[in-house]
Order: sequence, then structure tokens, then C-alpha cells
Amino acid sequence: MISSIVFAVSLLSFSPLNSPKYAIRKIIIDAGHGGDDPGCFGSFSKEKDVSLKVANQLAEIFAENMPEVEIVKTRPDDNFVTLDNRARKANAENGDLFISIHCNSEPKKRAYGTETWVMGVDKFDKNLEEVVVRENSVILMEDNYQEVYEGFDPKSPESYILFNLYQNAYINNSLDLAGKIEDQFQNRVQRKSRGVKQAGYLVLWKTSMPSVLVELGFLTNSNEERYLNDELGQTYLASGIFRAVRDYKTELEEKN
Ligand SMILES: [Zn+2]
Repeated sequence: MISSIVFAVSLLSFSPLNSPKYAIRKIIIDAGHGGDDPGCFGSFSKEKDVSLKVANQLAEIFAENMPEVEIVKTRPDDNFVTLDNRARKANAENGDLFISIHCNSEPKKRAYGTETWVMGVDKFDKNLEEVVVRENSVILMEDNYQEVYEGFDPKSPESYILFNLYQNAYINNSLDLAGKIEDQFQNRVQRKSRGVKQAGYLVLWKTSMPSVLVELGFLTNSNEERYLNDELGQTYLASGIFRAVRDYKTELEEKN
């Protein structure tokens, strides 16, 4: 039922105006964190390094297998880029998809598995998830964050009410792609999928294109940390994201 709704709405929300030839011509790949912002930690690795490696592998896979699509990186190396500037760059580049790559953490060190997030309010979960607060708290490193993010306080549940009014023409396309990514992780890459989730992520807030935030796994889980730092593991995860985008692109183009 849900997939047929997503299918119908994504048909409606896709305007032929922005697709003269290809539905997907430019993809923005966003490696989470960087520079002075390490992201979360495992026992021997940092989120900023794993996210950059997987993002770079993903870019290479696209270059080899889908040369007609241009890839733009928000963070090609180990530099700090604000969440606002990531979205600004994506919009200035007129991207057709925005894919943000991250790793998760959890204090009890037991949780493992992948999650793909889409901007929005998940009506089934009233709690503010730790991962959402953590990823948004990067803005506290910016001096003028209250101005840039319109008074948003990442640690205050009240701030997230702002997102109740969030409407975006691309939300159904984003959910469609997120579902395909989690399906790849679960069924082809043989990871545990924790599913598609929705919350108010600042990096996804202002991108004007279908956008997802991928949590590749938990660096705090020792098995998963090893997998996430293994070059082959990184290749498998990047390949899963690539295949999900390829399927998404094919379906969009068939509908045109
Ligand atoms: Zn992150």
C-alpha cells in the first residue's frame, strides 16, 4: 500500500521541467563531518574517516559505471564544512540527488545495523533519537549557529516542532530511494537493516532535491567497526548505495 502511494506521488511530484534527458544528471555526495569535527568514535576509528572513504568509493563507482552522471562532493578531503554550506553547495550545483554518508554510535556498544533517514517527522516516534541530536549538534561548532539555523537548538525537543510544518516536494522520492538503499543493505550486502526513518536533520532541511542520510553502521559495535573500516566492507556498502540509486534512476526514467 505504502509503496503504491509513494509510486503515485513520486510520479506527480516529478516535473518534466527539470528532466530534459536524464532524470538524474548530477548527484551530490556528502561525506559527514571532517576537519575539527570527527563525528562519533569507535575503539580505533573516527566517523569522519569512514564516511569519507565510503563517499569516495561511491564517487568512483559512479564514475566507472554511470559516467553520464556528474558527481559533486561537498567534502572531497578532511575539512570542516558546515551543515548549511553543504546544503547551499548542493542547491548551487543544482543536484538531482543528495546522499549524506555517516556512521552511528550507541553508548551500550550493542546496537548494530544500517539506517537511512529522510527529512520529516516520524509520527510513530515521539522521542528525540540520540543519533538525530548528535548529528545536528555539529552546528554548535559554528559561532553564529543561532542566526544561520534560525534559532534552532539541537538539544531541545521544542526546536524540532519547527519541522512539523516541513513540506517538501521531494519527500516521496527521498523515501523511495531510502527504501531501496535499506533493501540493498539487507538483502544484497547482508547487513542488518534498522529501516527507513524520518526526523529533522539540519543537513537535509534546505536541500531542494530528493535527499537521504545514510548511517552505515555503528562504530561502537566492535564487529561492525571492523567491517566499516575494512576496504571490502566499504566497497560492499558503497556498491549497495550505487545499485539503489541505479534502480531509482531507472524507474524515474521509465516513468518519464
Ligand atoms: Zn554523522
